[in-house]
Amino acid sequence: MSFARCKALLDWYGLNARRLPWRDTDAPYAIWISEIMLQQTQVKTVLVRYADWFERFPSIEALAAASLDDVLKAWEGLGYYRRARFIHQAAGLIVEQHRGIFPSNFDAIMALPGIGLSTAGAIASFCFAANTPVLDANVKRVLRRWHGMPEAADNVLWPLAQQAIDSSAAIAIWNQSMMELGATLCTAKSANCGDCPVNVYCDSAFRVEIAKESRKKTAVRDVHWQVHLHRDRCKGIWLSQRPVSGIWAGLWTPPITELAQAPACQPDHIHLLTHRRLHLYVQHQTKQPSGAGIWVSSLEKHALPTGIHRLLALVSHK
Ligand code: SF4
Repeated sequence: MSFARCKALLDWYGLNARRLPWRDTDAPYAIWISEIMLQQTQVKTVLVRYADWFERFPSIEALAAASLDDVLKAWEGLGYYRRARFIHQAAGLIVEQHRGIFPSNFDAIMALPGIGLSTAGAIASFCFAANTPVLDANVKRVLRRWHGMPEAADNVLWPLAQQAIDSSAAIAIWNQSMMELGATLCTAKSANCGDCPVNVYCDSAFRVEIAKESRKKTAVRDVHWQVHLHRDRCKGIWLSQRPVSGIWAGLWTPPITELAQAPACQPDHIHLLTHRRLHLYVQHQTKQPSGAGIWVSSLEKHALPTGIHRLLALVSHK
């Protein structure tokens, strides 16, 4: 990696970086939560939720002391709730094993649930100035394009990421710059090579074939679910907790049964997940509910999936 390329990217970052709240701090708790939220949630969604998280759980100790239900509720709408469960578990471990202080050692960071190599690299470099690269989806794309290796796998990209950071004078800013370039100019949907600060050093400049790159689409399976809606004017709505694994694990929904095939009627709502298209059919129930569950008069305290919130809003207007 040439000095000129490093400088071009860092200079561009200095002038163009978006102001984001997690960039104004090197506090490990704040960085950790931002990194996990940003793993599978868009920046614009995280931006509206980020400050609320710290109002609700101002410290790692407060997070560890909260119930899992409270943490899931705070995560509502961010998706991929497994992340919230890992955060809660990790907070407990930090309190138990590190006296509530986020560990600075890379291996200790990696040992926390829900933290992989790239997230550990981000936390270690942003908070503790460790010489550790980040290899998230944005950085992978940038590296593949820079090196003209559209199919390069992680085992090829990690050494390239490490080489790049080794020749950079500012580790944390370097990682931020790479992530920012992939998030703004060198994106999955376009490559704005005309405005790119490193286009003269890039093997793919002005030659990126987006259509070819995006050919590998995730297979999405259709699933048909009957949602049994029990309502009572005084008691509210009947909810049961989803199993601890699978779709919407641990969240609260009206009882659901999977249908073997699509019914003849239209679904009341279709909710898209990464690998599933959930077709939701409401069945209004008049009998008393049976099985595990609770009557809930206000949805404030229970974490419901976004798909169920939308469904309830839709059917309440019918
Ligand atoms: S020149 Fe184009 S393809 Fe290369 S890094 Fe910049 S935006 Fe991406």
